[in-house]
Amino acid sequence: MKSSKQRKKEIQAKRVHKKESLLSNGMKKQQILIDPSRLSEKSQRSLGIPEYYIDEIIKCTDCDVSFLFSAIEQKEWYEHKKVYFWQRPIRCEFHYHEWLRIKKMKKEMDRNLAILESEPDNKKLMNICADSITEYHKGTQNGNIKKAMELYNKLNLKNDNYLYCKKQS
Ligand SMILES: [Zn+2]
Repeated sequence: MKSSKQRKKEIQAKRVHKKESLLSNGMKKQQILIDPSRLSEKSQRSLGIPEYYIDEIIKCTDCDVSFLFSAIEQKEWYEHKKVYFWQRPIRCEFHYHEWLRIKKMKKEMDRNLAILESEPDNKKLMNICADSITEYHKGTQNGNIKKAMELYNKLNLKNDNYLYCKKQS
C-alpha cells in the first residue's frame, strides 16, 4: 500500500503537469470530432482527413493580424456549407467583408460599363458608371480612372468625384 505522503506527491506531480501543458498551449484548444460522411464528395475523396477539428490560428493576408478559425466554425464550413476540406479562410472578419464589398462593387461596375457600350448617350448611366469607377478606385487604387474623367467631362460635371479623378491623373 502507498503511504499518504507518497499519494500526496503523486497528486501534486499530476497538478504541475496539467498546469504546464495548459501554459504551453497558451490557451486550451477546442476540438470537435469530424463526421466524414457529412463532408463534400470532393473532401471525402481527399486524403489525410484527421479525426478532429482543432481551433486554428490564422494570419490575415491583408492586415497580418491573427484570428481564430474555431473548431465550431470549421465544422460549419466543411459539414454544412460543404466547403472543400483543405480550404482555409485567409482574411480576418473585417477584411473578408471588405473583400466582399469590393467584389460586389466591381461586378456592378463591369455590368454598368457593359450596358453603357450599347447605350453610349445614356447620361444617367454615364454618371453611374463614372461614380462607380471612382468609388472602386478609392477602395482599390484600380480601375479605369481615365474613362471616369472622360465621362465627367462629357457630362460637364465638376463634382468631388471629378476632382478626385483629376488628382489621380
Ligand atoms: Zn485583416
